[in-house]
Amino acid sequence: MARFLNAVEIMARSKKAARLEELAEQIRVCVKCPLHASRTNAVPGDGKYTAKLMIIAEAPGKEEDLTGLPFVGASGKFLDKVMEGTGIHREDFFITNTAKCRPPNNRTPRKIEVDTCTSNYLFEQIELINPKLIMLLGGVAAKKVLGVKSVNEARGKVFDHNNRKYIVGYHPAVRFYREDLSEKVIEDFALLKREIKRLKLDRDK
Ligand code: URA
Repeated sequence: MARFLNAVEIMARSKKAARLEELAEQIRVCVKCPLHASRTNAVPGDGKYTAKLMIIAEAPGKEEDLTGLPFVGASGKFLDKVMEGTGIHREDFFITNTAKCRPPNNRTPRKIEVDTCTSNYLFEQIELINPKLIMLLGGVAAKKVLGVKSVNEARGKVFDHNNRKYIVGYHPAVRFYREDLSEKVIEDFALLKREIKRLKLDRDK
């Protein structure tokens, strides 16, 4: 049952929201790594600041760079389809990336780019949003956040790290170069759904 927040909780929440907005503004004008030179828009992330669920992927692609929003291109369409098929609601998540600017020609972001972006922005976003469960999509996010060797090794498990749960899954874009891995993406989201239920993070709880 939902309960009303007290005055102290309301103040804390609005302070967090203000800091998250401030971070988003800093990301939009960031020049801390070389990726700023080729971007159209940085992509701070999208979703409720009170989300109990978070998705962290790799870096924006072409459509994301044009719009400033995560997962609105081809990968995003597939992500939406998988989420819908698994009974997961995108609006319940805060969605973001390890690197907030599109790497040229969608190359993998370099270590220095990921390190700069996560230490300045992503780790603070996680602390402020304070989700209970985070889905890491793809090797870049899984390696940086959990230090795992590969998606293949880490998927199918639920990790406890810094007082929250994490699941690692294939990045939805795999489907565009390895059609046979589409099923694995669906399996990863089925595990996410089970964990959402087990932790009672469903929207009606
Ligand atoms: N791929 C990502 O990793 N993130 C996006 O936002 C879009 C595509």
